[in-house]
Amino acid sequence: MEMKRFQKINHFPGMIEICRKDLLARNLNRMLKLFPKEYKIFPRTWCLPADYGDFRAYGGTRRKRAFICKPDSGCQGKGIFVTHNPEDIQHGEHMICQQYISKPFLIDGFKFDMRLYVLVTSCDPLRVFVYKEGLVRFATVKYIDPSSGKPVKKGGFQGTHTASDDICMHLTNYAINKRNENFVQHDTMGSKRKLSTLKAWMTENSYNTTKLWEDVEDIIIKTLISAHPVLKHNYQSCFPKHTSGSACFEILGFDILLDRKLKPWLLEVNHSPSFSTDSRLDREVKDALLCDTINLINVNACNKRKVLEEDKQRVKERLLQSHQTSRASRYWLPSGRRCSRGPGPAGSECPGGAVSLGRREELQSSQEAWLCQAQLYEDAHLGGYRRIYPAHGTERYERFFKHSGSLFRETAASKAREECARQQLEEIRLKKEKFEAAIMKKKAERKEELHGESGGDKPRTSTTSTAPSARLTSRSSRIWDRKAQHTQVDSTQPQDIVANEEKKRINALLQRENLIRSLGIIDQLSRLQPAPQPPADMQRSLPADCKSQVTEEHPDPSCVASAGDSHSQEDGEDGSQALSIPGSVR
Ligand code: ADP
Repeated sequence: MEMKRFQKINHFPGMIEICRKDLLARNLNRMLKLFPKEYKIFPRTWCLPADYGDFRAYGGTRRKRAFICKPDSGCQGKGIFVTHNPEDIQHGEHMICQQYISKPFLIDGFKFDMRLYVLVTSCDPLRVFVYKEGLVRFATVKYIDPSSGKPVKKGGFQGTHTASDDICMHLTNYAINKRNENFVQHDTMGSKRKLSTLKAWMTENSYNTTKLWEDVEDIIIKTLISAHPVLKHNYQSCFPKHTSGSACFEILGFDILLDRKLKPWLLEVNHSPSFSTDSRLDREVKDALLCDTINLINVNACNKRKVLEEDKQRVKERLLQSHQTSRASRYWLPSGRRCSRGPGPAGSECPGGAVSLGRREELQSSQEAWLCQAQLYEDAHLGGYRRIYPAHGTERYERFFKHSGSLFRETAASKAREECARQQLEEIRLKKEKFEAAIMKKKAERKEELHGESGGDKPRTSTTSTAPSARLTSRSSRIWDRKAQHTQVDSTQPQDIVANEEKKRINALLQRENLIRSLGIIDQLSRLQPAPQPPADMQRSLPADCKSQVTEEHPDPSCVASAGDSHSQEDGEDGSQALSIPGSVR
């Protein structure tokens, strides 16, 4: 089903590239490789099993480090465990393994993370807003650095704490901590606070929040840029007709953890952040967020009736213009890519959403006009949002967009995948070779058997050949049989004559001729067919006693055939040719 131009959807196709833990890790690892200084925004992460070797090598040399292991696409802290021991993880397990930030920023001894709400209103060009209000989720058990304590076991930390204590100390998920008896409902001292409360607390305690919020915004922009090639490609493929305005918008939940130096680290991105409101604090944050989002995306910008009218008009134009179209008209996709799908009416869309050259300029100017209008509208309807991209100074991100190479080539995981694919291909190739060798062997054996059974009859087996190929002698045909597996012989081309074999052939034909003559077959046939008289020389050569050897009840089939061809004796240049029997080996 196709989306209408007046419709908007609350997701971008391809946003999964940053919303699934393994894909996020893969994309950010790729960017980290390209921009090692700039992309240190995510704890070092390995996608298992592909990065297993790398992970074990890293873990082996850093015994004190703790790792947090998460299911590829889990949520709400499900299936997460922390370990000091890389050997806890078996080869072949599917998960992501991440360096554990063991020295987080603590408030009153508790670990916390921040949920930031980010609105993307367009992906081509990228337009990003961050909401001023968010949530701060606290752990409900006071934090103890695992690297200072006893080594940890898979499934939880050892020590005085129970597994539940451990979880509520290291994981800050609301879904986990709300069940803990220590959970406190309080605006400024509680286990769930507003982002503005945290900001106020930091200012009060003389922390440099300007730098912190700049870094947070930097993380958001860089993360979105890492998915940009896929977002842009998918958008253009899915919404070729949405040439002015954006068909999609999305509210993303960015989870960010601060380390003790107040450096923010991205933990994950949620494509469907919870909008459930089970407390006043939630309601205040989320209701305002949704209201401001609806205002900002300007759902009323598109007039449904107008769009339907325009579509009708376009169909009419297309029908009218279809006859005037030059067959050679070129097509362009809205992105500027050329479409070779074939000609169509000028000013119309070709199948798949490409547009003709004439309409391209029209689309570009309408896109520019829309962007201008959108910017004006957004600036006037920001509500609690702040535009972070594009914004003053964001030109510095331009270079990160220019990483249009393969998305899957750069990471260790992709290398492992490539290696795996290469090995599989090699295995297939070897299997194929073995199979072919077995078939060849069987064929050769079968041929040997056939040669053994009917070696002497071989010349007769190819009696159905037409003139040029009929020249193949028994030896040459055997050679040909052997070669045929490698080379295709063109049967319409004359084959080389081997002198020796040609001699043998002529001898055989002479023998046959003598036999026929000695049997008096020709004589008998000429008597049956009175009209054409056999040539004098032929009659001369037939011995009289032959007549008695062939009776009418038992005619020699070869002789019947020769009778039918009797007229050819007249055209023959020599005796052997004149007596040749159609269908016999010459
Ligand atoms: P989920 O989607 O299941 O909630 P997260 O990646 O958000 O998974 O992790 C859950 C919690 O675990 C986070 O809220 C945070 O408190 C903690 N956590 C996750 N990754 C790290 C890390 N690398 N270092 C320290 N704590 C982490």
